[in-house]
Amino acid sequence: MLLRFILIRLRARNILRPARVLVETPENETKPGVRGDSRVKRDNNLSGVDRRDFIRMLSGSAAAAGMAGVSAGCAGGSTTDKRVIVLGLDGMDPTLIRALIDMGRAPNFKKLAEMGSFSKLGTTMPALSPVAWSSFITGMSPGGHGITDFVVRDPKTYMPVFSIFENTEPDVVFSVGDVHLPIKGGGPVNRRHGTPFWSYLTERGIPAWVSKIPTNYPVDDTATVAISGMGTPDLADAYGLFSYFTSDPFEDYKGMEGGTVQYVDINDDVVHANLLGPVNGLKTLQDDSRDPYINTTKIPFTAYLDAQADGVRLDIQGQTILLKRGQYSPWVSVEFELLPIVGTVRGNARFLVKEIGPHFKLYVTPINIDPVQQPDGVVYPAELGAEIARDIGAFWTKGLPCDTKAFDYKVLNDEEYVGQAELVLKERMALFDHLWSRFDTGLFYFYVSSTDQDAHMMWRNMDETHPLHSEADPRFAGYIMDLYAEMDKLVGKVLPAVDDNTLLLICSDHGFAQFGRQFHLNTWLRDNGWLAVKPGAEKKPETSIFDIDWSKTAAYGIGFNALYLNLKGREGEGIIEPDKAGEMTTKLKRELHSVVDGETGKKPIAKVYDRDEMYTGPKVGEMAEMLVGYTPGYRNSSTSFMGATGSEIINLNPWAWSGDHSMAKDLVPGTLFSSRRINAKNPDILDLPVTILDWFGIEKPSQMEGSSIFRTS
Ligand SMILES: [Zn+2]
Repeated sequence: MLLRFILIRLRARNILRPARVLVETPENETKPGVRGDSRVKRDNNLSGVDRRDFIRMLSGSAAAAGMAGVSAGCAGGSTTDKRVIVLGLDGMDPTLIRALIDMGRAPNFKKLAEMGSFSKLGTTMPALSPVAWSSFITGMSPGGHGITDFVVRDPKTYMPVFSIFENTEPDVVFSVGDVHLPIKGGGPVNRRHGTPFWSYLTERGIPAWVSKIPTNYPVDDTATVAISGMGTPDLADAYGLFSYFTSDPFEDYKGMEGGTVQYVDINDDVVHANLLGPVNGLKTLQDDSRDPYINTTKIPFTAYLDAQADGVRLDIQGQTILLKRGQYSPWVSVEFELLPIVGTVRGNARFLVKEIGPHFKLYVTPINIDPVQQPDGVVYPAELGAEIARDIGAFWTKGLPCDTKAFDYKVLNDEEYVGQAELVLKERMALFDHLWSRFDTGLFYFYVSSTDQDAHMMWRNMDETHPLHSEADPRFAGYIMDLYAEMDKLVGKVLPAVDDNTLLLICSDHGFAQFGRQFHLNTWLRDNGWLAVKPGAEKKPETSIFDIDWSKTAAYGIGFNALYLNLKGREGEGIIEPDKAGEMTTKLKRELHSVVDGETGKKPIAKVYDRDEMYTGPKVGEMAEMLVGYTPGYRNSSTSFMGATGSEIINLNPWAWSGDHSMAKDLVPGTLFSSRRINAKNPDILDLPVTILDWFGIEKPSQMEGSSIFRTS
């Protein structure tokens, strides 16, 4: 409960902070040390907005931890001897797995395809994990479950909002002096609508084990056993914040998101610094204009550098850890004090010494919520966190485990990213072994994030046609295919379980494509008269969402694919009359379809989907009128994603994040393997929950839109 309150306080603080203060915060200002000699550098701004604050403002952060107690379990004796095993391999691309089978490197996938079926799987538009997996969970299209992108906007304020969960205020707060204790209510609440398909199983006494499925945060307690997935924050931030310590004052991380940089001094081979934790929401927040981390909890640590041994001794909270340069540490448990005796919050992090001399460079992963101390929201039932930890040790609880931001901003290089990716995969396979060895009957759903995250980050290493292929480390050109081959071993573990009573489905939510060039949707809208910025802002090289002149803006983009009309009666300052919406949509679609990239001669936009032609359901009215489907090779830029405009409409994608799937849905289909031959000609992700319920003899619930893939439709 105390930790839930941190989230709420964070959110309240940032909402109260005027936007212009965020915008005017000087970038890269060196701040006074938080303790000792270390100097803290503000991890600055994207589009003039501090992303860390911004994300908190959107979604709240953190440790949605759980002192709130454990909900009653719904387990019990099973009423079935049937089983459905689902491996959710996020982003597994049908073309790549086909190629691996043809190369003879995926014998188990091949066997499964011969036993039953292998096909493409239709996905949602947008073809994004939170959207598509929400459709898998509920059997509803985005118009029903309401998760329509990673980020949506509050129609009244236009502010981007994290789509997966939101924080709610406590009903009762007890305040004494500058201490504020939540007494009742409040905390993170999942934003997905509709009933999860597994609850139809458990209400009939059929066990349902659901591990790491995206958008399941806080974890749903209608499953028998569940671990939260994509959307789970770290201790300090909804997306996760890494820490980086360097003694090199010339290292410049201007514009960096997703982490903090602290510049440290080396004195006689010793470095003193502070590891930053969550903002302390139990205390009245102080003015942080001089020190951005004045309200942040901290743990001091000391690093003793030993160049001869090529390692570092790290002393932190009574623990001594020996770090070999270039090797990740095991999980280190760290505890941040909120109030003496009353409240602490514990997390786990891994340390990586990148360099000892001439400069000291230390990377620390985002601090993951400890599933033993704070199981609420992260595992269900609560005892599960301790049970797993006893067997495999601490584990990544953050929804997107691998640190893609640190790689994008070159805090990690290819080899260091791969080192982390391998740890994530190894740990996930250990988690599989733990759960699989205990599973008996019912549903077993197990999710792997690596097939998505690593394809995003290692695509350009593999793809010779990527414009920045030559910058990527060639040693990892085969990484994605090797990863798929590892997945074949996982298939080999479950394949022997298939029998007349046991169905095996392997699916992905979308495929993958190259992302070599970025399309700045909002810049295009501005340059073509659909979006206007306030007087004076035209001169800025890059504007933020705060610069938009809503009284003159007809359309705007927020999120990866959403293109909204500034609709009267829905948007806070809408100008488009609802009866003109159809006409505007048609015109805008036509113009976007005709855009050509002068450099390549290609059309960056393959298809703009009309929301009303695709979706029905109670949430359709809130959705964007148009969903922009990009051509492989292109994607919306990450600045445009947050409502910014810049000087160029199309340019090179500079990031390690070089593969993507926010293209037109039909160009990035998912993958489906079934141990039983399917009858559906064009299976769709919406069909899978219906198929699973059907296997257990449960009729299709009225909310679901698909059909069983085994029945002819
Ligand atoms: Zn992805």
